[in-house]
Amino acid sequence: MAPNCIFCAIVAGEAPCTPIIEDETVMAFMDIHPANEGHCLVIPKMHYPTLFETPPEVFAAVARLVVRVSLAVQAALRPPGLNLLQANGAAAGQSVSHVHVHVLPRRPDDGLALNWSRTAPADPAKIAAIAEQIRRHLPPA
Ligand code: AMP
Ligand code: ZN
Repeated sequence: MAPNCIFCAIVAGEAPCTPIIEDETVMAFMDIHPANEGHCLVIPKMHYPTLFETPPEVFAAVARLVVRVSLAVQAALRPPGLNLLQANGAAAGQSVSHVHVHVLPRRPDDGLALNWSRTAPADPAKIAAIAEQIRRHLPPA
């Protein structure tokens, strides 16, 4: 448990939450400031600040619960769309430094600024050069 981490406090039962489901590794609960009705969060119980510190097998357990919770949100609320969102670093909008995935129901008129323009494709040579850079940095599977 990390000091001053609200999600660690929730896992420990020291801070309240509106739970959905948990097991020994992962937990899902409602977001306290929902961007839309049904907005919820899935976290590992262990504290990892971001995706970059999270062991892949732990994130795989998070992903399995994300799929279950997303199916339940979809069945319960029937939103016209649903985003999965996972922020790493303040520049990405991360406000809680305990890795988490947002399950975020969407409506066409909800005004959330998550969608970018698909009208002007970037220079293909530039995209290819960046892909080459990324391939060179892939860690072993
Ligand atoms: P992010 O900004 O991507 O780090 O997301 C953090 C999310 O955690 C925000 O959507 C907050 O509304 C949510 N949050 C912060 N504190 C709590 C809490 N005590 N219980 C439930 N959700 C919380
Ligand atoms: Zn934590």
